[in-house]
Amino acid sequence: MANVTLKNLTKTYAGQITAVDNLSLAIADGEFLVLVGPSGCGKSTALKMIAGLEPITAGEVLIADEVVNEYASRDRDIAMVFQSYALYPHMSVFDNIAFSLQIARVPKAEITRRVAEVARILQLEDYLRRKPGNLSGGQRQRVAMGRAIIRQPSVFLMDEPLSNLDAKLRVQMRSEIAQIQRRVKVTTIYVTHDQVEAMTMGDRVALMKDGVLQQVDTPDNIYNRP
Ligand code: ADP
Ligand code: ADP
Repeated sequence: MANVTLKNLTKTYAGQITAVDNLSLAIADGEFLVLVGPSGCGKSTALKMIAGLEPITAGEVLIADEVVNEYASRDRDIAMVFQSYALYPHMSVFDNIAFSLQIARVPKAEITRRVAEVARILQLEDYLRRKPGNLSGGQRQRVAMGRAIIRQPSVFLMDEPLSNLDAKLRVQMRSEIAQIQRRVKVTTIYVTHDQVEAMTMGDRVALMKDGVLQQVDTPDNIYNRP
C-alpha cells in the first residue's frame, strides 16, 4: 500500500486547453477516493498523469512519498481498470487473471496460490476454468479487477469501470467494488461522472469542475450537508 500525493498537478493540451489546473490532493494509505465531476472536467487526464500514461505539464505525482514523474507507467506500482477492458477470449479465467504473473515467470505454485486468493476475494472460485464468453457481465468485470489486483499493486486506479454495464449490474457492482476495496485495502482512486457512485462508494470525494478541484470531503459532508 502507498499514499498518493498530487502537488499542483497541471496539464495543458496542445498549449491551450488546461485540462487539469493546479490539482493538489493527498490520498492516504488504503483510502478509497472518488474523483467526480462532469464530462470534460479533467478527471481522466488527472488519472492518466498519475498512471504515467500522459505527460505532466507541471507539478508532481508522488507515490509512497516518492516523486514518480519520470517513471514509466510499468515502474509505478499501480494497476488500472478502465471502462473498456479486453479479456483474452481464448484463455480461461484462471489464465486471464494469472497472465501477468506467467509473463513475469512467477513460480507456478505461487501463481496458483495467488489466483486462488484473488478468486476467493472476487468470488470467482467456481469460474476459473470458464472462458470469458461464458461469464456474465459482472463476472467479466470481476475478472478484469482480478487481473489488476493479482499484481498486488500499491495503488489501484479505476476510470469509469461501470459505465458499460447495464443499470442493474451497475448497482450490484457499485457495492461489490466498494466491498472488495475494503477487503484488499489498496489505495484506490476511482474516476466517475456518476454522483450516486461518488455518494456511496468511497471514503472521500474529490469534486472537479473545469479542471479545478472544488472540494474534498467525505460523501456525507459533500452531499448531505446544506
Ligand atoms: P473527463 O475525464 O472529466 O471527462 P478529460 O480529462 O477526458 O475529462 O478531458 C478534460 C479536457 O481535456 C476536455 O476539455 C477534453 O476535451 C480535453 N482533452 C482530453 N484529452 C485531450 C487530448 N488528447 N488532446 C486535447 N485535449 C484533450
Ligand atoms: P502445465 O505444466 O501443463 O502448464 P499448470 O499447472 O501450469 O500445468 O496448469 C495448466 C493450466 O491449468 C493453467 O494454465 C490453468 O489454465 C489451469 N489451472 C491450473 N490450476 C488451476 C486451478 N486451480 N483452477 C483452474 N485452472 C487451473
